[in-house]
Amino acid sequence: MKNFNKLFIAAALCVSSSAFAQNNNAVVDKIVKEATENSQLQTLAHELFDGIGPRLVGTPQYDQAGKWALDKYKGWGITAKQEKWGDWRGWERGISHIDMVYPRVHSIEGTQLAWSPGMKAAVTAETVILPDVADSAAFAKWLPAVKGKFVMISMNPVSGRPDDNWKEFALQESIDKMKAERGAQTEAWRNRVKKTGYNGRTLPVALEKAGAAGIITNYWSQGFGVDKIFAAYTKTIPTVDIALEDYGLLYRLTEKNEKPRITIHTESKELGPKATFNVIGEIKGSEKPNEYVMLSAHFDSWDGGTGATDNGTGTLTMMEAMRILKKVYPKPKRTILVGHWASEEQGLNGSRAFVEDHPEIVANLQALFNQDNGTGRVVNISGQGYAKAGDFISKWLEVVPDTIRHQIKTNFPGTPGGGGSDFASFVAVGAPGFSLGSNSWSYGNYTWHTNRDTYDKVVFDDLRSNAILTAILVYMASEDPNKFPRDKATGENGQPIKWPEQGKANRHGGFE
Ligand SMILES: [Zn+2]
Repeated sequence: MKNFNKLFIAAALCVSSSAFAQNNNAVVDKIVKEATENSQLQTLAHELFDGIGPRLVGTPQYDQAGKWALDKYKGWGITAKQEKWGDWRGWERGISHIDMVYPRVHSIEGTQLAWSPGMKAAVTAETVILPDVADSAAFAKWLPAVKGKFVMISMNPVSGRPDDNWKEFALQESIDKMKAERGAQTEAWRNRVKKTGYNGRTLPVALEKAGAAGIITNYWSQGFGVDKIFAAYTKTIPTVDIALEDYGLLYRLTEKNEKPRITIHTESKELGPKATFNVIGEIKGSEKPNEYVMLSAHFDSWDGGTGATDNGTGTLTMMEAMRILKKVYPKPKRTILVGHWASEEQGLNGSRAFVEDHPEIVANLQALFNQDNGTGRVVNISGQGYAKAGDFISKWLEVVPDTIRHQIKTNFPGTPGGGGSDFASFVAVGAPGFSLGSNSWSYGNYTWHTNRDTYDKVVFDDLRSNAILTAILVYMASEDPNKFPRDKATGENGQPIKWPEQGKANRHGGFE
């Protein structure tokens, strides 16, 4: 009798799981077909990256993007809303014009940093390089020399060629020499800044107080034509980044006492505290409406480029997956949510605020899938330290088309991510947040936070593949008869592995 029961149960399981798989395949086929034959990715990319542009928190473009996303979701029949969670220093980027006017005329490639104060009119002045002083007393004595000058505070790199270019063409002895020079120079520059008594954040403010006309930086991203463009710390004078080639030119002319003069004209507007919000979309669950599967990608960006791959591509992947799901799987078992987060770039603030504000959703989260490392095909998924992650995610991946699935390396149970992107806000509170890790496409050097993070860098084939993968994972997580168990993996000592701490959302940012 016992044996018979066992057999019977095994047979029943077999039938139901194959029926399940067949159903799955029907929906999966529809997902693939819709993503392939009716892709909206290029249209979305053009509207968001080219039309609206970068989406720095606190800017009117962020607001426009928020409105655009609501319109898109409405057009697809998906409920969506903006959820305000705080405010941020409001600022609007205007023009950046920089020219060398002496000893010859030359247009300079450069731009103001985010939140750089606006100028009433163009200023023409000489440049001066941060000097190598003995100590902070000597620096204080030198400081009045900056009055009315543009101060260059970055190192002038030894070479403007990226390492892979050296590796391809240089003699080994030349590479070794260059690297040794670069190491010594980097160390010396670090000391030069240190000896002023200030750091990267406080030095521009000290120079501003001493009457400098502006601050000139170069944050080379170690590739041809790429600089990282972050935030200014000055309150009244402009801070600009000048491209390596032009920075080097000005640096050498200044160093040789040829007294170059440049004209800088930047404009920007301070807009005071500005409400900031996440965009949340929803497809209501039909059987378990109070359990949730989430799609996740931050909506904000830095503004040196148009935030195309950080995180425009994650944003579009999630929007396209939502559109497809609504079309081919309109009555999900569990409620499907999408979170487009604000102010990830300043410290995961939007997703942390959501976790703080929605304990009922976080407590009943089946799974969250976040993508935020560029345009590439997903090649890595970690179980984030959850003991049973492998059982569930492997099962969800089973129905993913071979061409997509075979590229993905899984790591179960893996270790919990402490940061990097918004999935970590959920992991920190023990909720199942996962990161869909993309292959690189030289993300770190060429697009991440750079002036070249633009439409042309998007690889639409990879994006389409990611939209398919995301839609299928969400579908499978929604259909799964079992709830994802949150047990933490144990380490070699038999104790639960070390878990990251929950960070607090900064709900009033940019004013410090
Ligand atoms: Zn990002």
